[in-house]
Amino acid sequence: MHEVAVVSDLVSSILEELKKYNVKSVPEVTLVIGKLTNLGHEQIEFAYGVITRDSVLEGSSLVIEEEPVCVNCAECGYDGPAGLIDLGYGEEHSVPLLSCPECKGPVTVVSGRSCFVKCLDIVEED
Ligand SMILES: [Zn+2]
Repeated sequence: MHEVAVVSDLVSSILEELKKYNVKSVPEVTLVIGKLTNLGHEQIEFAYGVITRDSVLEGSSLVIEEEPVCVNCAECGYDGPAGLIDLGYGEEHSVPLLSCPECKGPVTVVSGRSCFVKCLDIVEED
């Protein structure tokens, strides 16, 4: 499972960061996950629960913010959300279209590939 490796890396970097503080508990961790990473939110939550067991992060609630896919077109200057191919299973399962919604030209993906820790809610020891 791809998610386990990704979450494992994120958790290691969080634990590294937490060494700077006298942490009592961490009520909440917010992650930003780009839609193009193809990481499943349920799998991330599951992996997070397993990986953080017996660490200071155990029991913290995980908030996942999805980063939408945005593209930039050199042909017509379009800069905004990518078009979506609707497969008929609802918004969540639609596939981003990596060509310009305006002129159908090739585009550069400017967001949607992120995978990072956005914020940590830390309670410090007195
Ligand atoms: Zn264009």
